[in-house]
Parts: sequence; structure tokens; C-alpha cells
Amino acid sequence: MPRQFFVGGNFKMNGVTSSITDIVNNLNSAKLDSTTEVVISPPTLYLSLTRSLAKAEIGVAAQNVFDKPSGAFTGEISVEQLKDIKIDWTLIGHSERRVILKENDEFIARKVKAAIDGGVSVIFCIGETLEEREADKTIEVVYRQLNAVAKLLSQEDWAKVVIAYEPVWAIGTGKVASTEQAQEVHAAIRKWLGETVSAKVQEEVRIIYGGSVSEKNCRELATQPDVDGFLVGGASLKPAFVDIINARI
Ligand code: PEP
Repeated sequence: MPRQFFVGGNFKMNGVTSSITDIVNNLNSAKLDSTTEVVISPPTLYLSLTRSLAKAEIGVAAQNVFDKPSGAFTGEISVEQLKDIKIDWTLIGHSERRVILKENDEFIARKVKAAIDGGVSVIFCIGETLEEREADKTIEVVYRQLNAVAKLLSQEDWAKVVIAYEPVWAIGTGKVASTEQAQEVHAAIRKWLGETVSAKVQEEVRIIYGGSVSEKNCRELATQPDVDGFLVGGASLKPAFVDIINARI
């Protein structure tokens, strides 16, 4: 079975009731490629609003979740709370949380496991900094990030994971990875899946690219055999997001 193309929209800490309503209404009324899975990720405060407005075919993701079920964790939200408001997806390990909020591989891995155990699918973000790329450490870094999660997941758990390869130097910078750079790392991730998890998981897990994806560069990126979709930040707030969802038609 071919892997279903997947496009996520990460609104980050952007939007208020009126603008998020406009974005969702625009997606609801647009003609979207019905073979592409679409999941949008508004700030936590607007998850319920987004879920209630978006048509059923559009998934809604949190941008983060905590690894503990409940308790004295001020400011955090649990997997159970996401399920309670009908949220079936979460981003975990976004570089802005790794870099700005200093989340480490082990903490991120525990959150991935907690989400999956609680029935929430995960867009698991990995990627190297510019310094790491220039030191030729890209593959070493993404394998380290993947290995931390692989230690905690069963083979079945991987059915609930979409891997987002997002080179940190390409996020929000306008510097998109070339199609060759993206394909090279995606192919290495797929090889790792085969060697570390199983041939089935290697074949089935979607690996999406994130980092300054726009309506201009998405078509060429989408032609690559191991690019199964996109995680889109800035452009997901604009009408051009529809063109990215429709990159293959
Ligand atoms: C992101 O936030 O995951 C992202 C890829 O952002 P941008 O598309 O703005 O680079």
C-alpha cells in the first residue's frame, strides 16, 4: 500500500479567535486533495475551537503534551486532557521546544510514548542545526534523536508516528533544503527504520519534510520518493497552505 501523503500545519504561537476561525473556514471551503491527510496545529487555547470548526476530514494536533497523566505540573497538559477535547494528534520534539525550551531526547521520547499509550498519534520532529550540518553530523544527530524514541516504542507503536524531518536552519528562515538534501536525509531515516525497527515499519511510516515549505517549492519536494508530505509553519497561516496540501495535483 502506498503511504498516504500527509500535510501538517503548525500555527506555532500565532492567531487569535478571529484569525484562526478565518484559517479554518478557508480550509473547510477549499477544494483539498482528498488523498492527502491534513492535520492542523493551533495554539493549545484554540484546540477546542479548531476541532469544533474544522470539518471531520481535517485532523487537529496539539503542539505539545506532557509525559505525566496528571498532578502538580503547572502549565502542562496531559494526553487524557487532549483526548477529552477530541484531539487525536500532537507534535512532539519541535526544534523550537528542543532549542528554546531545552527539551532533551529522553524527555521527548517519554512524551512520544505517553501520547501513543493514551491513543494520541504523534508528529515527531527531528533535525540538525546549521552547526551540526556544517560539521557533517546531520545523520548522526537524527539517528540519535530517533534512537531515543526507538528505545521506548513497540513495533505497533510506530503506526501512530509520522516523522517530521525539519532541519533547524530551514525553519522560519526562508532557506529551504534542496530536494536532494531532503531526499538524502529521508532515505537515511527510512534505512534506519528498516535496520532498527522492521521492514514493515520502514515501508509504512510517513517521513515528512519541514522547513520554509511554500507554494513555490512544495511541488518539487513532493516528487521525491521518501518525502511523504510536509510540516508547514509560516505558510500554514496563509491561503497558500491550500496549494501546499494540493502539491501533487
Ligand atoms: C515548523 O514550524 O515546523 C516549520 C517548518 O516552520 P516554517 O514552515 O515556517 O519554516
